[in-house]
Parts: sequence; C-alpha cells; structure tokens
Amino acid sequence: MRYTGPVCRLCRREGTKLFLKGTKCFTEKCPVERRPYAPGQHGQSTARRRKTSEYAKQLREKQKVKRIYGVSEQQFRNTFERVAKLPGITGHNLLAALESRLDNMVYRMGFASSRKAARQLIRHRHVEVNQKNVDVPSYLVKPGEEIRVRMKSREQASILMAMDQSSRGAPLSWIAVDRDTFSGRMLERPARESIPIAAQEQLIVELYSK
Ligand code: SF4
Repeated sequence: MRYTGPVCRLCRREGTKLFLKGTKCFTEKCPVERRPYAPGQHGQSTARRRKTSEYAKQLREKQKVKRIYGVSEQQFRNTFERVAKLPGITGHNLLAALESRLDNMVYRMGFASSRKAARQLIRHRHVEVNQKNVDVPSYLVKPGEEIRVRMKSREQASILMAMDQSSRGAPLSWIAVDRDTFSGRMLERPARESIPIAAQEQLIVELYSK
C-alpha cells in the first residue's frame, strides 16, 4: 500500500530529506531542517537510544528509497525481482530502474515539482511518450524515447511553476531537456554515480536476498 499520511513525517522518520513536497523542500520551512529528529512523542529520546541492528538498517534503507520514488511495497519488490535477473550490480540496476519510471523522468526533467505531482500529471493525461499519450506513472522510459508535455497542457500553472524552479537546479548528464518544446529524452541508462540519491542500495539487496 502507498502511504497517504503527512509526507514530511516520512522524511523525519528517515532522518533525511526525501524531497516529497516540491518547493517547500528547498525552503527553511522544511521540518527536517527545523526538527532533525524522528516524529512523535519519543522522537528525540529514541534517536539517542536506538541501537540499530543490521536488519533494521536494511529495512530503513528500503523504506527510504521506496518513499523517495513513491512506489508501493509490491511495485518495489517487483522491480527488485526484475533487476535481480539482469547482469551487473543489482543495487545499481535497482536505482536505474526506479529512475527510468515515467513519473521520475517527468520530475527530473523539471515538468513537475515532485514525483507525486508528476504522477498526477501523467494520470491526468498531460504527458506523451513518443507523441502518444501515456497515463501510467510506472511506464519504463527507454533511452531515446521522447517525453513531452501535451500541447494543450503547456499553459498549466503547476507545470510552468515547476519549470521555473527547476531551472535553478543542476542538470543531469543522462537527460536532455528542451524547455522551448516542453520535451526531453533519456540519453542513456544512468550510471550509479549520475543518480543524485544518497542511498546505500546494497543494504536493500542484502535485505531481499535473505
Ligand atoms: Fe521532506 Fe520536503 Fe517535507 Fe522537507 S519539506 S520534510 S524534504 S517532504
């Protein structure tokens, strides 16, 4: 099941910014900046006391990455099982697969302020892949495919605002964006060092390999 409660709580639980809220994440209103301890009555004391077992660390890392990309447990597990059969380092393949999701690509290209907002745009049919409407956020984008905002949707305020904010961020080497045509492409499958996610993905591999 996908978590539907207050998302800032998730960041505080993981003790790190997961960037789930769009603009707010980049301001001093971000609760992780203001209250850097776990939520709840015992948040401050348990942060000091908790002894973390190997299993707990693996579990937390899985929860963190799952929450960053906003996927359900089942989707996450399915993605893992699919990439576990591929050659290469499974943890890297896992992140590359999550990055290839259409919702993530729309977010990375700057057409949405968060992955959640990107999912909404996709479900509401504002996004096309290779000039065809795709309303499935988990669609896996392949290198070379063109992603673009549908012509009729280009005046939408949330898209324009997201594009304005994203122009301040550093571009990613494996994504090309043409802001004039509201489009972009994945140039190549991302290598681990080009994925800006602070995760220890090998802990997730260990967790699922038990
Ligand atoms: Fe996380 Fe963003 Fe909320 Fe900060 S503002 S706690 S980064 S979702």
